[in-house]
Amino acid sequence: MNLAEYRRAAREWLADNVRDGEDPRVFMARLHDAGYSGITWPLQWGGQGLTQAEERVFAEEAASCTLPTFMFSIGLGMCGPTLLDRGTDEQRARFVRPLLRGQEVWCQLFSEPGAGSDVAAVQTRAERDGDTWIADGQKVWTSVAERADWGLLLARTDPDVPKHKGLSMFVIDMRHPGVTVRPLRDMTGRAHFNEVFIDRVPIPDAHRVGAAGDGWSVAVTTLLHERLSISAGVGMSGGKDSADGFEALRAATDTSDPHVRDGLVELHLRSRALDLFNQRLAQETKAGIFPGARGSAAKLLLAELALFRADLATSLVGPAAVVDPALSDALALAPAMALGGGTNEIMRNIIGDRVLGLPPEPRLDKTVPFKELKVGTQE
Ligand SMILES: Cc1cc2nc3c(=O)[nH]c(=O)nc-3n(C[C@H](O)[C@H](O)[C@H](O)COP(=O)(O)OP(=O)(O)OC[C@H]3O[C@@H](n4cnc5c(N)ncnc54)[C@H](O)[C@@H]3O)c2cc1C
Repeated sequence: MNLAEYRRAAREWLADNVRDGEDPRVFMARLHDAGYSGITWPLQWGGQGLTQAEERVFAEEAASCTLPTFMFSIGLGMCGPTLLDRGTDEQRARFVRPLLRGQEVWCQLFSEPGAGSDVAAVQTRAERDGDTWIADGQKVWTSVAERADWGLLLARTDPDVPKHKGLSMFVIDMRHPGVTVRPLRDMTGRAHFNEVFIDRVPIPDAHRVGAAGDGWSVAVTTLLHERLSISAGVGMSGGKDSADGFEALRAATDTSDPHVRDGLVELHLRSRALDLFNQRLAQETKAGIFPGARGSAAKLLLAELALFRADLATSLVGPAAVVDPALSDALALAPAMALGGGTNEIMRNIIGDRVLGLPPEPRLDKTVPFKELKVGTQE
């Protein structure tokens, strides 16, 4: 099928299949049956084995719809790609297809009360007991944990070595009775994320992703996918939110005013520039060119775009923007964009250090055993 035919088929499928209020799991199964879930993922693991070109065409067609895929965004954007890159064939065979079909929901268990920007400081422990690991600890800000079947868990497996060296990555069963999920309400009034308490939860060694002690490099893989997927809006809504943000602003303002037009043009240009940058990173990734820290640049640009849009909305529309149903969510969520997936300050540190080659931040904890550091609840 050439790209024009692919586009026509995707458009028709979306017109026939996106229904208000549909169960997301039912929708995902249909999306997968139709060949639109995991478009670039390998055929062997349940993907469609197609190229970025088809994926982009589908995303363009989906931009005018609201797909009910938000609860799968962590699995599609971060956990699945990490398993493809770093998992075993057994793990790929077990987990990837159910993820793509929406049968199983995933969350990412990295952040803790004492480990956010400094995620290598996690204190959640996993201790080996034969072929099983016993996990114990607390995570926070865990998106979609309340619906998750599986979580990608970063845990400390050796506190006697420096903090980056004693970590391992696991797939944890979120349905185990030792896992307690408590919702945290944000200023939109919804609970987008949760606290997660892990109380002596057994994890089979077969669910370890990467070597024991190599969890930091697996986490870096996940974080890279996280930044790329956030900036590209994987699983978010098919792009309707940002298109709506623009349209809502246009509808709520007097576009004969040159000041308003300047603002709207600037918003459009920033959004278009980010789209093109994301397309370029996606094509390069497919061609084997590692985007590295430029993924952080894309994520920073998206967060700045969200803040710019929120500022523009309040300056052009005034206080009425806060109660405009089409604008209020974007206003309330803009600050979160500058935190989730790594804060703007951390993105700037990474860009300074790894893209621009500026001197790195001084690091005094690189060679000190983790148990001797004053982090989290450690005295
Ligand atoms: C909407 C949303 C969803 C999230 N979902 C998840 C999820 O699913 N799973 C998960 O594991 N986590 C999730 N997070 C957590 C997110 O990754 C953390 O909030 C983020 O890494 C920042 O950590 P922190 O909140 O502990 O802030 P801190 O690290 O305590 O930072 C506080 C402030 O200090 C600044 N700062 C810290 N260190 C430095 C430094 N070295 N240089 C300069 N400034 C610095 C930060 O930029 C920030 O302004 C989510 C967060 C949000 C907002």
